[in-house]
Amino acid sequence: MDELIYFDYAATSPVRPEAAAAMAEALGQFGNPSSRYGYGREAARRVKEGREIVAKALGCSPGEVYFTSCGTEGDNWALRRGVELNRRKGRHIVTTAVEHAAVLETCRDLERQGYEVTYLKPDKAGRITVDQVTEALRPDTALVSVMLVNNETGVLLPVAEAVKAVRAADRSVLFHTDAVQGFLKVPFPLCSTGADLITVSGHKIGAPKGIGALYVKKGVRLSPLLTGGGQEDGLRSGTEATGQIAAFAAAVSAAMADPGGPDRAAALKEYTLTQLKAALPRLEVISAGDVGHICAVTLPGYKSEVVVRVLGDKNICVSSGSACHKGKPSHVFAAMGLPKPWLDGALRLSFSPESTREQADALAAALREAAASLFTTLS
Ligand code: PLP
Repeated sequence: MDELIYFDYAATSPVRPEAAAAMAEALGQFGNPSSRYGYGREAARRVKEGREIVAKALGCSPGEVYFTSCGTEGDNWALRRGVELNRRKGRHIVTTAVEHAAVLETCRDLERQGYEVTYLKPDKAGRITVDQVTEALRPDTALVSVMLVNNETGVLLPVAEAVKAVRAADRSVLFHTDAVQGFLKVPFPLCSTGADLITVSGHKIGAPKGIGALYVKKGVRLSPLLTGGGQEDGLRSGTEATGQIAAFAAAVSAAMADPGGPDRAAALKEYTLTQLKAALPRLEVISAGDVGHICAVTLPGYKSEVVVRVLGDKNICVSSGSACHKGKPSHVFAAMGLPKPWLDGALRLSFSPESTREQADALAAALREAAASLFTTLS
């Protein structure tokens, strides 16, 4: 098998060695944080430390961080309990058409329960404006959910500005942001956006899958999604995933110790786009992305699933969109109004600070070869 060349870091990332080591240690010390004896208290201490580290990265106090099993859980919790918290206000939700399925499918479920949802349409570049958000507000709007970084285009949405504008229009609306693709990738702490609820996930930043967190701003009296033993201050029952929490904290610390990481990913992305454009004259850039690690391109006339498979046979990993689409055309690119040949040929490339120019060169060569061979088969 060829060496793995991975350009799908927005789907998931390798576990950082620091995270794996912290997880192994925490798994060895297997106590239940709720147990009253010293061995349990030791596990509780690790969870407390992990919470402090994640809080520092988010720019909030530890008491505002609740560990979850993943970003999807955070989004579900924020939306389902957020609207419930504000139910006296009304049953209207504002979100965007470019959200991750974790938000969109939750909104669809809420629609089936009688909520009304306004899905803001992006422009051709995948952008949403603050005015669109405020113009969609109604007297019965209970919650606004706007993602921070789109997982398919890398576009940064104006969350801080939208929070400010929504607050100015109506102080009682709750604001949630899915910041799964922004956590430790944008040059500001997520809590500086002013959002009430912020979702993050570990496996996008070098922690293992199965851990995330929801920031709940002090004073926001969100009720739990999971009830039971009352862990996480009664807000998220379930025995704490001590190994994953330790790993998450170690991955966060490692990312914070390397503030130049996003810029290195951005430089490599720029290099890759230059190489791809030189190797494939038909390639078009859908979005160069505002954040360092994500961009989207297209090969009009080709089917991205086929290209992804051909590259995959060479152990080169790219995506035809969000990993959650499973071969369906991207709802994000469709909402941007891309012409069908662009939609069909769309590829998302996502980078890490450790991605190399040699890998980018190999991708460009393999993509050129794949395009040439597929063109012959198609014509
Ligand atoms: N939100 C965004 C923007 C994502 O990119 C993802 C994962 O791809 C999620 C939510 C879901 O996160 P998780 O895989 O941790 O459930």
